[in-house]
Amino acid sequence: MTSEELCGISLAFGRGRINMSFRHGDKADVLVNRGNFLASIGAVPGRLVCSDQVHGGRAVEVTSADAGKGALSFETSVARADALVTCVPGLPLGILTADCLPVLLFDPAAPAAAAVHAGWRGSRDGIIGNTLRLMREKFGTRPEAVSAWLGPCIGQCCYRVSGDFREIFPGSVAMDGEDTFFDLSGFNRQALLVCGVRSENIHESGGQCTMCMGRDFFSYRREGGLAGRMLSVIMLSKTQ
Ligand SMILES: [Zn+2]
Repeated sequence: MTSEELCGISLAFGRGRINMSFRHGDKADVLVNRGNFLASIGAVPGRLVCSDQVHGGRAVEVTSADAGKGALSFETSVARADALVTCVPGLPLGILTADCLPVLLFDPAAPAAAAVHAGWRGSRDGIIGNTLRLMREKFGTRPEAVSAWLGPCIGQCCYRVSGDFREIFPGSVAMDGEDTFFDLSGFNRQALLVCGVRSENIHESGGQCTMCMGRDFFSYRREGGLAGRMLSVIMLSKTQ
């Protein structure tokens, strides 16, 4: 696990192969694992909000009324959403991943926060732009003020994809003979820049590939149905 406490937010990316998903991997200790992880950033585990992560492009605002959705079971998760935004302090927003890219956004001016699940489908459907648009509508967020953290995901080294990715993501694929490799993190970094987020405000996990680094991360591509899920969380502090 890595975590940071900055002025106005707490955020953490899961690592260490501790499963946080009710639906995947070893489900025996998920509530304990989540409780320990959330407590480490000063969050109340029962207030965690997760979405059902349907690999779409939809962002949803959540408020105090949504506290705890997806915290104790998958069935209560916020429906048909892959990104959550809020301006409510003390409301932890979570994203579960094992190869997909978790993106955490913070607007210190509003203040507001977002947690984004970016797989290739959500990336194709503009999940980053949709999230920043919703933050602007709801909170007046200006992208120039936003800080972004891109967590561990499958690297281009391992992300072999079908040839049609060359048309869907021109500029974010590399060829090796007949094989095509997709740069999921790079594509979403570019999406942030196109939306107006400043490069110096984009923080990346440093090329950590979930598939290469089997001791540190779950990887759906490496482990298939046995893969657990990491949890990435962002929460606005109660004292601003
Ligand atoms: Zn790799």
